[in-house]
Amino acid sequence: MKFTPAKTPIHSVTLDELQARLREMGQPAYRAKQVLEWLYAKRAGSFAAMTNLPAGLRDELAAAFSFDVPELIRKTGSEDTTQKFLFKLADGSLIETVLIPASPALYGEGSDRRTLCISSQVGCAYGCKFCASGLNGFSRHLHAGEIIDQFLRVEDLSGERVNNVVFMGMGEPLANYDNFTRALGIMNAPWGIGLGARHITVSTSGLAPQIRQLAAQPLQIRLAVSLHGATDAVRDQIMPVNRKYPLAELLDACDEYCSRKSQRITLEFILIEGINDSLEQAAELGKIARRLGAKINCIPYNPVEGLPWKRPSLRRQDAFLDALERTGADATLRREKGSDINAACGQLRLQVSREEEKKTSADRPFAPIPYGTAVFPNRVWERGC
Ligand code: SAH
Ligand code: SF4
Repeated sequence: MKFTPAKTPIHSVTLDELQARLREMGQPAYRAKQVLEWLYAKRAGSFAAMTNLPAGLRDELAAAFSFDVPELIRKTGSEDTTQKFLFKLADGSLIETVLIPASPALYGEGSDRRTLCISSQVGCAYGCKFCASGLNGFSRHLHAGEIIDQFLRVEDLSGERVNNVVFMGMGEPLANYDNFTRALGIMNAPWGIGLGARHITVSTSGLAPQIRQLAAQPLQIRLAVSLHGATDAVRDQIMPVNRKYPLAELLDACDEYCSRKSQRITLEFILIEGINDSLEQAAELGKIARRLGAKINCIPYNPVEGLPWKRPSLRRQDAFLDALERTGADATLRREKGSDINAACGQLRLQVSREEEKKTSADRPFAPIPYGTAVFPNRVWERGC
């Protein structure tokens, strides 16, 4: 589903676009930089706050661009732990963003960093069998401004500086390629957020053509591939995307990414009991990692209410890692942080909307909420997400 906001969201606009628009408004060339400085250096929350701009221009900007601030619906966690933020967007959609403190050298960056896990879509169309985000299908893409707003809003709410971003929240970022790369540009630009490309990781379930597309663009962002199965037989069982882009095609695209970027790919492998945790899978995974020169992150599965999958016993996890290391692969098993890193996979959103379902059916059986006054106006079409 496409969501077209009535006005252009200001946080999805690039320097060039803003310059062109301001020129049309008869403004001098320096105005665009002034506006962007308000947005990203001074973190203004409205056009009205941009006090060194003429009042008439502030009104014109407000008429041309929207300035939506995602509404915080719920927050869990505290300063020293993983904090999850559930946001309501302008159209009522719910998304999750997760702030993870000091995540040691997870995706190649140094330790002691605050990592932000960002959503790229509302729901997800890819329907991996183990994932909460895909449970109720896909609602819509996020536009670039909604991706950037997650960063700005969490820094604002937490008072923390984020120095690392991972696109591992809800959605498949490479399926929302244009908005995702537009947001990347704004995140990386010196006139924007100014975050180094090497501090940004995109995770994909394996969209081979878009991996190639990403390889061809200049930003040195890091790539993490959600493998979760080292053979087609296993991937087919849990990840429908594998039928479209089987392993051979995916790994060829990864080869291309590696050859065009001076960095290593990360292979993510969630360990699910009885599905992909055999020693044979470990051996195959080791081969793949060696071929790509990739690192492997093994993450014990984080159970999702209503889904049958379990994490393997500690002994089995260790045996898997041992077998992997015997192949000579560079692998880590992220036990404690495992559930943190995957905390954004639609689980808080799922929990809150299930609570809402219960509330609406139990507390108000005979009094439906009038249209337009519901807390979650989109609850019906986003049922269960
Ligand atoms: N769509 C992208 C990015 C979002 S998911 C992708 O699939 O890569 C981010 C990571 O969390 C993926 O590796 C995904 O497979 C994993 N994940 C999803 N649900 C999980 C769960 N319940 N426990 C552990 N990891 C999970
Ligand atoms: Fe979508 Fe990624 Fe979840 Fe698969 S794992 S359903 S691609 S968010």
